[in-house]
Amino acid sequence: MSSPRLASARPERAEVESFQLDHTKVIAPYVRLIGCEHGPAGDVISNYDIRLAQPNETTIETGGLHTLEHMLATYLRPRLEGYIDCSPFGCRTGFHLLLWGEHDTREVACALKAALEDIAYRTEWEDVPGTEPESCGNYRDHSLFSAKEWARRVLEQGVSSDPYERICV
Ligand SMILES: [Zn+2]
Repeated sequence: MSSPRLASARPERAEVESFQLDHTKVIAPYVRLIGCEHGPAGDVISNYDIRLAQPNETTIETGGLHTLEHMLATYLRPRLEGYIDCSPFGCRTGFHLLLWGEHDTREVACALKAALEDIAYRTEWEDVPGTEPESCGNYRDHSLFSAKEWARRVLEQGVSSDPYERICV
């Protein structure tokens, strides 16, 4: 039985930067700095919005998004110092990228472009890691075909280092 006080209290709510962003104003594909978090020891973690698909116009199919996730983990890590993680947005239009330290969006966009070129032109199925039940949580839902299509599409449109203006690297 819940107490009346708990039942009437509204849960504590966080202000999340990503929900303040006007998704109708941005022009994908782009790299955007969401923010930097400062730890108690002085460490900095920066969080980027890696937007590959135009919000509310198109989405990346789950198989393609999943394979892009595995390939970006493989190809972005060696290109970006302080790489922590790159994980897909639930809206399937892009990825969060977490890095130690502060980085210019241009540097991130250049690394992303090089990783997408690897995916589009130099990746075979044998190169995709985590395609067995032992190494992935949904190994059947992969599509290198879709990942390559999206990589080519993004490269054709250009990766911008700014979400509002096309400043392609
Ligand atoms: Zn997986």
